[in-house]
Amino acid sequence: MALLIKAGRDPAENWIKAIAADLPDLEFRVWPDTGDRDEVEFIIANRMPPGEFASYPNLKFVASTSAGVDRLLADPDLPADVPIIRSVNTQRAATMCAWVCYQVIGHHRRFARYGEQQAKQIWEFVHYAPPDEVGIGIMGLGTLGGAVARTLKGLMYDVAGWSRSAKTMDGIKCFAGADQLGAFLGRSEIVVSVLPGTAETTDLLNRETLAKLPAGAYIVNCGRGNLIDEDALIEAMDSGHVAGAALDVFKTEPLPKDHPFWTHPKVLVSPHYSSNGGAKHGVGVIVENIRRARAGEPLAEMVDKQAGY
Ligand code: NAP
Repeated sequence: MALLIKAGRDPAENWIKAIAADLPDLEFRVWPDTGDRDEVEFIIANRMPPGEFASYPNLKFVASTSAGVDRLLADPDLPADVPIIRSVNTQRAATMCAWVCYQVIGHHRRFARYGEQQAKQIWEFVHYAPPDEVGIGIMGLGTLGGAVARTLKGLMYDVAGWSRSAKTMDGIKCFAGADQLGAFLGRSEIVVSVLPGTAETTDLLNRETLAKLPAGAYIVNCGRGNLIDEDALIEAMDSGHVAGAALDVFKTEPLPKDHPFWTHPKVLVSPHYSSNGGAKHGVGVIVENIRRARAGEPLAEMVDKQAGY
């Protein structure tokens, strides 16, 4: 029986090297050389061409290579009874925290202004609020959002978080559910989304909810692009209600050449790269689940297909 790898950013040989160290008897196949599909029990991928998933009759699970599983869930050919295993990657949270800190601090400490001043050889200190007086709101308090919240708290920001279910986190004000979204947004001078792309999170930041942010709020989105009603965000920035946005994810990716975000003076665009986790940091959950599947034990870190993440 075999593991088929359809690699993402990290090449298949990195996955094979990392997994073979723990499972030397496992047979590896690398997409598109599937061999006999009846023999494929496990797949590592974050997407497959149409029709593909339906052609593996003995598939025991699909392990996602990315933290977002929206593409896998949207695949009509992935049989409903085949579990999806979440990507659990120790490097991903670290790289995401670094990107978010760069954006949050860059806005709060006015990095762009100092770039302009340097070009004109101007030596001028610009006042900034102490971090414990800056309200930061993290949308999504899961693996990544939780790490981002704790990191910004460590830099003494006034951090709150919002999730679907109620939580308690040391030093972080936790809000939950649709009823508390308004109160959460109302105290978020910088709002950072690390939410998954689901039906419920689609257009969650729209005209009505953007209006709930304090005047001059800044938006950072590294979750999924479905979150933002892009026309509403442009209106809010043009009116001055929203000061600007650092965006790593978009409704359409790659961002179309004629999209107004490319040239908007208040928008920073990055190409869906805020976080990355190399194969060697993400094999643990796969190795453990192969062991469990072989032993007939329940799998771990399964995606909740109903909730969509
Ligand atoms: P996770 O551990 O599953 O956490 C998801 C968080 O979102 C949870 O706190 C969850 O609430 C919350 N949530 C989900 N739906 C919600 C809703 N309708 N209302 C309020 N809160 C909701 O996921 P993760 O590993 O942190 O990753 C989060 C997302 O980041 C991924 O799904 C992916 O889309 C994105 N991502 C982007 C990049 C990039 O490069 N830009 C890289 C990696 C990941 P509960 O805690 O109550 O369940």
